[in-house]
Amino acid sequence: MTHQIFALPTETDKAKVQIAIDAVIKAMQLCEQVQAEMVSTDAIQKTDRSPVTVADFGSQALICKAIGDAFPDDVIVAEESAQALKENAALLERVTAYVNGFCKDAVPSAGTVCEWIDRGRGAVGPNFWTLDPIDGTKGFLRRDQYAIALAYIVDGTVQLGVLGCPNLPYRLAEAPHHDDRDRVTSENDGAAEHGGLFVAIRGEGTRLYTKTGDFIEHVHVSETTDRFAESVESTHGDSDAHSRIANALGITKSPVRMDSQAKYGIVSRGEASLYIRLPNPDYPDYRECIWDHAAGLIVVEEAGGTVTDANGSPLNFLTGKRMHENRGIIATNGKLHQQVLMALTQL
Ligand code: AMP
Ligand code: MG
Repeated sequence: MTHQIFALPTETDKAKVQIAIDAVIKAMQLCEQVQAEMVSTDAIQKTDRSPVTVADFGSQALICKAIGDAFPDDVIVAEESAQALKENAALLERVTAYVNGFCKDAVPSAGTVCEWIDRGRGAVGPNFWTLDPIDGTKGFLRRDQYAIALAYIVDGTVQLGVLGCPNLPYRLAEAPHHDDRDRVTSENDGAAEHGGLFVAIRGEGTRLYTKTGDFIEHVHVSETTDRFAESVESTHGDSDAHSRIANALGITKSPVRMDSQAKYGIVSRGEASLYIRLPNPDYPDYRECIWDHAAGLIVVEEAGGTVTDANGSPLNFLTGKRMHENRGIIATNGKLHQQVLMALTQL
């Protein structure tokens, strides 16, 4: 097997890229179908999280099937396992029905769907894929931002990132005004076109496609310093500290609050110059998961930006499913990076 990954792409490398893109597009379609069939956002948020579960498992099944069929020896480290599904016949039936809808040739049994999902139970090693079948599940339930995030890592370096963002507006509003903890929306709200697929290959830049795979443009980070992004969920960061850093940098616009790795996407296309995620003081022992950052990292780096943890250390994807050696995340347009790290030392 060859591991000349992407610098001078081999046929295998090209096939990996294509399979990853096709699989993420399919998974986005499955997620959108599940979301369209959710009865009411309200009811679901309060009482029933099953739609997100159906979409999580369905997305993982489709992507792991595609990778496993094409590259049976490839290792996949994905967020879900089929265990919970095997204990819930009704849920398994729903997941299987959705997955069937995307399998043209053969109709997989429930057992086969579980086998596909469990192709994602690999361990971190020299070469592996990492997958978050739905990143930002809370955003998915609110019909806000979520992402399907797939990355390929070789010797600890992310070489390929495919980040599907089905709800991401084509352009964010220029100066979103919102109350505390509100989310940013598109320029024309519901009227704007939405959906994006970021594909970053090491050494080749970051390309943006529509969610059906039509090329839009190469994206680049912003030259200016005027807006930052953070999580919608206050417990996933330290928004007071984020604001203090933003003030120190002279950023005056209100933050873009967004779920999922879509935040890396907007940094990559210059709509924010900083994505900051400092550890929440209430969860000092929290360690970030590799699938929550690997795809996003290369999307920003290949668009000209920089990603480290809050101490300025590179993200270490080789310590297991969680990044035990890293604290927090700083993704910038590059220019701003040292200033942010400096401001953090003075916090
Ligand atoms: P986001 O949409 O950016 O808020 O990120 C969602 C991810 O946050 C989820 O996939 C979780 O893995 C992760 N998460 C859960 N709890 C925490 C926490 N206390 N601090 C940081 N991230 C968290
Ligand atoms: Mg996630």
